[in-house]
Amino acid sequence: MAGDGERNAKGEGGALQGRPSQVVRRTPWEYTPAPESRDVVRIKDRYDLFIGGRFVPPLSERWRTTIDPSTEESLAEVAEAGEEDVARAVEAAREAWDTSWRDLPGKERAKYVYRIARELQERSREFAVLETIDGGKPIKESRDVDLPLAAAHFFYYAGWADKLDYAFVGRRARPLGVAGQIIPWNFPLLMAAWKLAPALAAGDTAVLKPAETTPLTALLLAEVLQDVELPPGVVNIVTGGGETGAALVHQPGVDKIAFTGSTEVGKAIQRTVASSGKRLTLELGGKAANIVFDDAPLDQAVEGIVNGIYFNQGHVCCAGSRLLVQESLFEPVVEKLKARLGTLRVGDPLDKNTDIGAINSKQQLEKIEELVASGTEEGAEIYQPECHLPERGFWFAPTLFTGVSQSHRIAKEEIFGPVLSILTFRTPEEAVEKANNTPYGLSAGVWTEKGSRILWMAQRMRAGVVWANTYNRFDPSSPFGGYKESGFGREGGVHGLEPYLELEPVTGNGGRRG
Ligand code: NDP
Repeated sequence: MAGDGERNAKGEGGALQGRPSQVVRRTPWEYTPAPESRDVVRIKDRYDLFIGGRFVPPLSERWRTTIDPSTEESLAEVAEAGEEDVARAVEAAREAWDTSWRDLPGKERAKYVYRIARELQERSREFAVLETIDGGKPIKESRDVDLPLAAAHFFYYAGWADKLDYAFVGRRARPLGVAGQIIPWNFPLLMAAWKLAPALAAGDTAVLKPAETTPLTALLLAEVLQDVELPPGVVNIVTGGGETGAALVHQPGVDKIAFTGSTEVGKAIQRTVASSGKRLTLELGGKAANIVFDDAPLDQAVEGIVNGIYFNQGHVCCAGSRLLVQESLFEPVVEKLKARLGTLRVGDPLDKNTDIGAINSKQQLEKIEELVASGTEEGAEIYQPECHLPERGFWFAPTLFTGVSQSHRIAKEEIFGPVLSILTFRTPEEAVEKANNTPYGLSAGVWTEKGSRILWMAQRMRAGVVWANTYNRFDPSSPFGGYKESGFGREGGVHGLEPYLELEPVTGNGGRRG
């Protein structure tokens, strides 16, 4: 990706911290650019709020600009919902619940959810390109991961809508009411799907608050909701910043809050919601251990490590950001990882060959830089491959640290960037001890050829998800969620329906809904 107007990862012309310990050459050939066309996407100059099935200007009369993080170019002005706007959205959701959605038979709700899935499939290229432009992630990820998974979530939950009375043995399922849903910027459309699909299947209505840096695919989804003729007010979308999210949490008309984001904001929401009677699920941060035993298939493990931490620029709550390698395997793993890092292509997110796109925002880039600087200051050894970063936009080269101790900030804090901290262990007991030595508990990975060891490890990991000989695999039928400071509640699978339902004991076999 070298060329005019670009800077390299060592900071010449750039702002990256630290020095690479050694340089491994990148692939000896240049790729021909393979840009995905932007023509399929039509971005409006201005976006209103989506309330009661229509786009309406914000009463706040405030707007903020969303940018392309790979170029810093302005894309559109997006409404910033104030208190009154949020209250209006919640009223619309309440009215839709009272007058239509609550009593609609499950098989009718299923049809709407199914249609949303079909529309997402049909317009997947448009959504993928827009996701990449607004958020900076590589097109091959938005095309091959975000979009198929978002559609799969709607398909999956469409299947549950008319089977709720059979899903929870001995209990009858009733919808809860209005769900307030706050989502982050790392998987904007996918997180909207994770939140909306189970809510709609359960018979709840929703007010969704996308992240301020990535509102555009949620607003395109609003157009899909109009196209499928979802009854007005069943889903409302209020764009804006943290204050808009806080206003949603405070709204008395909301029955349930579902939040994905930072642990800090999650804790603040928990304090606000306490004793309000609102239900709450929190999906927060992580500092997952990806554990490689000396009998692991080495090349496969290296691919899994790379996928675990460099996928989506490391903006992944369940990223395998702490690599624990059995001591005897340390050198070959690090050597192979360094060679593999040299082949990762950083640059234009719309290029189909790009592996690592732009960092989502300047603020996030500064956070990564600050934590990486702390790593070198605290004595860890940094390695970044030789790679050239575009001059404009927000970029960070794939990075790994060796010589990391458990007390280093880079081993404890969520960096949420393409930065891997490598530690070692000698025995399985030590691996468990180190893996669980974190306030988080979202995910973990285990690499070994022994099935018995996988089970032994999985039983001891304090993590909501444990992947074995793979990493970052998602399926709508699998529950996902954390322990400890990673939050509580599960999304995905039948477990993901529960937070949106009132479950009452069944007397006799009456009261079934269809
Ligand atoms: P936040 O937790 O601030 O953002 C998540 C969502 O919550 C966004 O929609 C945000 O709005 C909204 N929000 C912010 N403040 C409030 C509030 N007081 N009440 C209600 N909603 C609020 O995460 P950041 O974007 O600031 O990222 C910071 C760090 O959080 C990252 O570096 C990463 O470590 C972690 N993170 C974890 C995620 C995960 O999936 N677990 C996802 C994103 C971040 P807005 O964006 O408009 O401000």
